[in-house]
Amino acid sequence: MSLLTKYPSIKRQLLVPSLQEIADLLNQNLNRYFAECNAAVVDCPNLRQAPFHLANEGLCGNPMVADIGGVRYLSPLPRLDKQPYNFTELGELMGFKNALVIGAACAPFHVTGVNCELIPNLAFKKDENECLTIANETHAAKIDERGECELFKLDSVECCLLGNVFVCEGKPGKVLKINAKKRIGNENFTESIRNIIREKYGENIISLGGVFLIKQGTAKLHIMPDFSTTPLNTEEQVNEWLKFFSMKAPLICLSVFHSYDDNLELRMEHTHCFSTHGAGGHYHYDITPDEIEYEAYFNVAETLYRVDAPKSG
Ligand SMILES: [Zn+2]
Repeated sequence: MSLLTKYPSIKRQLLVPSLQEIADLLNQNLNRYFAECNAAVVDCPNLRQAPFHLANEGLCGNPMVADIGGVRYLSPLPRLDKQPYNFTELGELMGFKNALVIGAACAPFHVTGVNCELIPNLAFKKDENECLTIANETHAAKIDERGECELFKLDSVECCLLGNVFVCEGKPGKVLKINAKKRIGNENFTESIRNIIREKYGENIISLGGVFLIKQGTAKLHIMPDFSTTPLNTEEQVNEWLKFFSMKAPLICLSVFHSYDDNLELRMEHTHCFSTHGAGGHYHYDITPDEIEYEAYFNVAETLYRVDAPKSG
């Protein structure tokens, strides 16, 4: 079976403003959301090293995003018949021989034994003999027997039901760096940036992906428990099912977001966090506006893949 048959996809070339144009835009507008903020185009730090712990060093080389599956495969009831999505296969479908894949997804529950949060963070390389080498720094966060968060390394290259990933060759190069402290707006960090980009570019999809650190403060994260056996029909029912936690910095957050949907049923923003102190999960917002400090490294995607979108109707 071809990869395109296995993963029916729509490919879109995106509008790609220069990093400097976005940095200028943020420098003009991010102060509506944060009392102290700055955006600049910088050389990407080596993201393999602390405090980032990514599976490759940079965010450059054919930057792309993939929106895989969708929330409608998770609720009202999970589509347990859906086959897992394999990130190395998806990377190949997108034309990569070597790639860094980072973002937010549903864990491969056939591997973890339970539905939970996946924080995909892997690099793969396929040589001329089709031999695949994988560096996998992926984590998953689940609810343990005591109802607490358990963050653990997961040696899998799969996710289930839905995922949002930034994919590139993992090369060094120029990236967008954003510092923001003291939140004064009501939106979370990525929503603030999305709003500003949307205002400028309207009905063009601008997609960004990368990593941000929560260096100070506390954030509200959720972790999905095992699948619900009763249908989750309303947002209220979903929120009752999810387990919410307050988690402290430092948190490493892998993020993908889009300024506009254009009828692709995109997940407009999806960020999963991990850490070196056992905290991890799905980022909602920070709860300590005075203390909060964000530092982000993003690149702008040139291409978007919408993979196996739920059928309408
Ligand atoms: Zn999530």
